[in-house]
Amino acid sequence: MAHFDYIIAGGGCAGLSLAYHMITSPLKDKSILIIDKAKKNRNDRTWCFWTDQPTIFDKIVLREWSKIEIIDDERHFIRPLEDLDYQMIRSIDFYQFIYKELSKYSNIKFLNGFIEKVQSDEKSASLVVEDKIYTADYIFDSRFSNESLTPHHPDYHFLFQHFKGWFIKTPIPCFDYHKVTMFDFRTPQNGEVRFFYTLPLDDETALVEYTIFSDNLLTANEYDSALEGHIRKVLKIKNYQILETEKGIIPMTDFRFPKQEGRRVMNIGTRGGACKASTGYTFLRIQRESEKIVRSLMRDNSPFYPQKSRFRHRTYDSMILNIMHRDGGLIRDIFMQMFQNNPIERILYFLDERSSFIRDLKIMNSVPSEPFITSLENIFGSDGLQKK
Ligand SMILES: Cc1cc2nc3c(=O)[nH]c(=O)nc-3n(C[C@H](O)[C@H](O)[C@H](O)COP(=O)(O)OP(=O)(O)OC[C@H]3O[C@@H](n4cnc5c(N)ncnc54)[C@H](O)[C@@H]3O)c2cc1C
Repeated sequence: MAHFDYIIAGGGCAGLSLAYHMITSPLKDKSILIIDKAKKNRNDRTWCFWTDQPTIFDKIVLREWSKIEIIDDERHFIRPLEDLDYQMIRSIDFYQFIYKELSKYSNIKFLNGFIEKVQSDEKSASLVVEDKIYTADYIFDSRFSNESLTPHHPDYHFLFQHFKGWFIKTPIPCFDYHKVTMFDFRTPQNGEVRFFYTLPLDDETALVEYTIFSDNLLTANEYDSALEGHIRKVLKIKNYQILETEKGIIPMTDFRFPKQEGRRVMNIGTRGGACKASTGYTFLRIQRESEKIVRSLMRDNSPFYPQKSRFRHRTYDSMILNIMHRDGGLIRDIFMQMFQNNPIERILYFLDERSSFIRDLKIMNSVPSEPFITSLENIFGSDGLQKK
């Protein structure tokens, strides 16, 4: 039975990020086993995020944008970003970059296989891969499937951010590659939140994504025909070639994912609740989580760092999810008013949970209050007591 200091169960974004943070810290000599059922040798997703400072992944940023566009049938805003950059990283570049760095350390091992039976006791944690047992001082578990979210707990909201995107190439310049279209609401909402997201890589290439926040997934044909209709009729691009496709489902829930399972198993990434409930943005939250774990291991020899209260932001997330759940069709107008009445950076810091209460109030004051009051009543009850 092989024993390691740490086992990372699932070598995707969270697992590899944690390993990378470990080798760039005094933990670099720890023995680490990273296990994944997939080989991670293809571009299975792209990550976008906004940041006001350099990140450890600056070298692999594929593109960055300094303007954000928001549009619906009546309103159109293009807002320059001043302190922030909106950036994109391809997952294949991320996997290759981290594998290359980790391969410099003989104390780091990789195993390709399906993990079962993760458990722990006072002294150690263990898991099973193809009938072999591996043990460690701590296991960091990032295995996740959206099916594991069911059955739904009645006290929480459960929706999905589900999307399909095409990287398209046009024979003539069609895109302004200085701007990213974050929300293009020129599509029927069907009582849900539906929009297109366009990320130009240059003036002839872009990722166009059809995104829905709801609890009903579409068929493959429905995503495809919406994408085709948007590109031809709304973007008015008649000729294009599909280079690559991307699809995904991200949980949007205020469910409290447990961080700790047993004495020595820590859940990380999506499994540990890293996805921002109301937006699905996760990448930078995973980096912040990895930093905290490494600091905690260095300080206390335990990864379980004290959780900061997120009551305020959890409540905002729950309110937005509650509106999406009741009548997602309201969100388009709320978002358009929010972008119309606030500087873009105020909104992005707010979504990143890095704004002051006063700034939050300014944002809330800029959108219709009625849907949020109903949400508060649904969450806390009319007597103001939280139901969960
Ligand atoms: C297509 C897509 C696009 C996204 N775009 C963005 C974005 O632009 N910005 C953003 O902030 N977030 C984005 N996200 C959300 C989030 O950042 C990603 O889902 C991110 O990959 C989450 O990291 P993770 O480590 O939790 O999960 P993953 O990266 O999925 O890693 C989990 C790993 O566990 C492995 N695994 C699972 N079960 C087992 C098992 N039983 N045995 C062995 N291995 C197992 C899987 O193979 C996988 O490699 C996106 C998500 C998707 C799906």
